[in-house]
Amino acid sequence: MSLLVPDVRVPRRSLALLPAAPPPRSVRISVTDRCDFACTYCRPSHHEGYAEGRLLTPAWETMLEGLRRAGVTRVRLTGGEPLLHPEIVSIVAHLASLGMGDLSLTTNASQLARLARPLKDAGLERVNISIDTLDAARFRAITRGGELAQVLEGLDAALAAGLSPIKLNTVVLRGVNDDELEAIVRWAWERRMVPRFLEVMPIAEGAKLVGAHLVTAAEMKARLAHLLLAEDGAPEPGKGPAKYVAARHDPGLRVGFISGTSDTFCGTCDRLRVSSTGVLRPCLATDDGVAAGADASAGDADAIAAKVAEAWTLKPDGEVWKGCTEETAKSLSIRAIGG
Ligand code: SAM
Repeated sequence: MSLLVPDVRVPRRSLALLPAAPPPRSVRISVTDRCDFACTYCRPSHHEGYAEGRLLTPAWETMLEGLRRAGVTRVRLTGGEPLLHPEIVSIVAHLASLGMGDLSLTTNASQLARLARPLKDAGLERVNISIDTLDAARFRAITRGGELAQVLEGLDAALAAGLSPIKLNTVVLRGVNDDELEAIVRWAWERRMVPRFLEVMPIAEGAKLVGAHLVTAAEMKARLAHLLLAEDGAPEPGKGPAKYVAARHDPGLRVGFISGTSDTFCGTCDRLRVSSTGVLRPCLATDDGVAAGADASAGDADAIAAKVAEAWTLKPDGEVWKGCTEETAKSLSIRAIGG
């Protein structure tokens, strides 16, 4: 069975009265919707199917050139699991050759032990690694079969290869892993990594978990108050919605909080997303976008650049219409859109 991912999406309401958002500088690309894990907040199982019409590597190269021409300077590769793409190293090398200012990747690290060094050599600067628990049995349960030891090996390889900084993503679920906040912070700080805690968002399978399992960023901060300065936290300019709070004992150590549910951040979001089928999507949580896969396959980078502007007009304004909390979010595939 394949996911229903239509190629052209139509905005559900006119945004004509909204002020134009500045053009996107930052793009998240789902190079593949394939994943070797089936995390409980993301997918219903390992078997729910994949999108049809994935782009081939030459088409990705055209897509990247089109994005560059549209003014994009920051690219994060994601998925699905980007390291399952058989040509991920050459895609990274191609991106690096375009001279984008910031090049990063989000991964579950299951393949990082063998790929960290080749990716670094190809020009990758830094990685975000998703790890929801330090307990192997819990890890297996949350990811539906993932092996923590393999991920820890990948993480060590990333440190050894000099990918830096390494930021961690932990989705916090009440009654599942919320007793590990402090342990994860201390473990990450020992390795000079940046732990980041995400609220579970009501997107895809997450919609079923928010009611019983959401822990808000405010509650997480309160629970870590003995380790952290008493401040709201500040985002890193141009680097996403996480707000970072410094450690009490060392200003060089931080914890990030991502509050996609209790406090959506559409107003400051400058991210465009590109799905694994080449749809330019202005938001992770809405079903709107502009299909550019055919242009990419035809080698037409200028057409893609023009469509970036078109897709950007569909962006939620964050006031009247918020992305993550929209009803549509629950029927989307984060894997295809690029989480
Ligand atoms: N496979 C890669 C990984 O595991 O990092 C990249 C894709 S994954 C979809 C990207 C991030 O989205 C992960 O950190 C994951 O925890 C997060 N994520 C997925 N579904 C979520 C949800 N419903 N709420 C909050 N975060 C979610």
